[in-house]
Amino acid sequence: MSRAARRDTAPELALRRLLHSAGLRYRVNYPVPGNRRRTIDIAFIRARLAVFIDGCFWHSCPEHGTSPAANSHWWETKLSTNSERDRDTDRLLEDAGWEVLRIWEHEAAETAAAQVIDAIARCRAS
Ligand SMILES: [Zn+2]
Repeated sequence: MSRAARRDTAPELALRRLLHSAGLRYRVNYPVPGNRRRTIDIAFIRARLAVFIDGCFWHSCPEHGTSPAANSHWWETKLSTNSERDRDTDRLLEDAGWEVLRIWEHEAAETAAAQVIDAIARCRAS
């Protein structure tokens, strides 16, 4: 998977625009504590909230994740490696005291923004 291809996808840009107009400020592609080769799509540093916009295909969304028929074994391995890496990233962040919010790219930007705003409120309250 090309890391660059995942950056600044349309669903991510739409979400960022909504969050920005809600007055929220964040960093994009912020390094994951404990593994600086990985990045958080949208990071709220003070609230310690890490938001990831997961692509349906690459992250095996239950609704749209498909395993291509050609080279199926290779793909299965590839996609399950991705899922393991996601879980590992979540663990690194949680160990460092961050909350992780994963949003499927198929979710409407408005729904996603509402989830982020709720999570920030929760992080600030605790
Ligand atoms: Zn999906």
